[in-house]
Amino acid sequence: MGSRKVTFSEPLDWQGRHVTVAGLGVSGIPAAKVLHARGANVTVVNDGDDARAREQAAELEALGITVRLGDGATLPEGTELVVTAPGWKPDKPLFAAARAAGLEIWGDVELAWRLRGPDSAPWLAITGTNGKTTTTQMLASILKAAGLRTAAVGNIGVSLLDAVLGDEQYDVLAVELSSYQLHWAPSLRAHSAAVLNLAPDHLDWHGSMEAYAADKGRVYEGNRVACVYNVADKATEDLVRAADVEEGCRAVGFTLGTPGPSQLGVVEGILVDRAFVEDRHKNAQELAEISDVNPPAPHNIANALAAAALARAFGVPAGAVRDGLRDFTPDAHRIAHVADVAAVAYVDDSKATNTHAAEASLAAYESIVWIAGGLAKGATFDELVAKSAKRLRGVVLIGQDRALIREALARHAPEVPVVDLDRTDTGAMLAAVQEASRLAVAGDTVLLAPACASMDMFANYNQRGDAFAEAVRELGS
Ligand code: ADP
Repeated sequence: MGSRKVTFSEPLDWQGRHVTVAGLGVSGIPAAKVLHARGANVTVVNDGDDARAREQAAELEALGITVRLGDGATLPEGTELVVTAPGWKPDKPLFAAARAAGLEIWGDVELAWRLRGPDSAPWLAITGTNGKTTTTQMLASILKAAGLRTAAVGNIGVSLLDAVLGDEQYDVLAVELSSYQLHWAPSLRAHSAAVLNLAPDHLDWHGSMEAYAADKGRVYEGNRVACVYNVADKATEDLVRAADVEEGCRAVGFTLGTPGPSQLGVVEGILVDRAFVEDRHKNAQELAEISDVNPPAPHNIANALAAAALARAFGVPAGAVRDGLRDFTPDAHRIAHVADVAAVAYVDDSKATNTHAAEASLAAYESIVWIAGGLAKGATFDELVAKSAKRLRGVVLIGQDRALIREALARHAPEVPVVDLDRTDTGAMLAAVQEASRLAVAGDTVLLAPACASMDMFANYNQRGDAFAEAVRELGS
């Protein structure tokens, strides 16, 4: 391999440097363009070679960027640095070749971090298995309420590259990071960061739970002010302990219970801060009421506390935490109340695509008719069903892997009535909602929290949630 090892030191001089960008896509195309514009000699490699890829390739080639379609495995001769799409699995041969040649491999987040200017805004970073998007948006809302120029960026729509290189000036960024992005971001150093929770997910990509946790834990590396962890999830605290942080950086916990010193928590319906106050052994600062959190489900109050902790670490006053939480509305399909029909509430949590998320959502209601099923992605359902059994009025199952849930119900909740729809067509949602309405009694909640991915029946979780809402509307008409 004729690759040369180069250490990239600041400020970066890209002129004539040979950079391989792995993956044509939402992160690869802007990365290639930015590096080319800075004078680098860019080659994009891509596994696929379909019509769309050719169109994108033609656009880049017109700028003078080399594109190699249909071969994402071999490292181009002379490569000095690899910049990869975050989703590319670490065991790909391209990376083995890069590592063997001693090259650095950067993901989209690492690239943005390295290219940001000297005066660019600090990052408040959020990761975790579930709740990332919601918490990042809550944080941005709180920061805005404090009068700061900010945006919710990262794994959330606005790319970090756009955020750090665009014309808009920010005081601070609320950054959502996925485990893939963190894997490829070795030098990222956030002002403060939170790991919301840790449950098995994406293990095929990371290789093991340990590797997944270690990648999440990278978010704490080099934090300056606070490492925010979940008191109820010891694994997150262990990651803080393992992290190498700046002198003086504090571990700050959040809990749904009464907070100890250096924690944020809940006392008699009030969110309180015992971390960022004078004399935290004696004092607590009231931040907001539970009713200020939308929706006030337990896991979402935990999200609000994590967002508040990061905002407080940045010096935001208590009043802005309350105002920001009040101003916040969650994205669609996340515990969205669709309608009440015959005194039964219909709630769309189509975004609950794994068992950990579904468990949080089921914990938010007392008496539930649960609509579940879809693609299980290798998950098992025993723990979820055992923990939620007492809340279940009934269950309606749809989708390809519904037998796995049916079997777990037979083991842990044999008395709960189950309707197995044995359908995977799109129209099955209407039938599911009708069956659920028959099982429900006044005061119950019919909850779509599938614990599974949607792609067996729908294009994505949005379409699944829309189908649910549409079916509820038909029911009510
Ligand atoms: P992410 O960006 O991590 O996927 P979202 O904020 O989009 O997270 O929420 C996804 C789903 O995860 C929600 O619909 C809800 O069911 C569940 N969820 C949200 N917050 C939490 C939490 N703190 N703990 C467990 N599950 C959660």
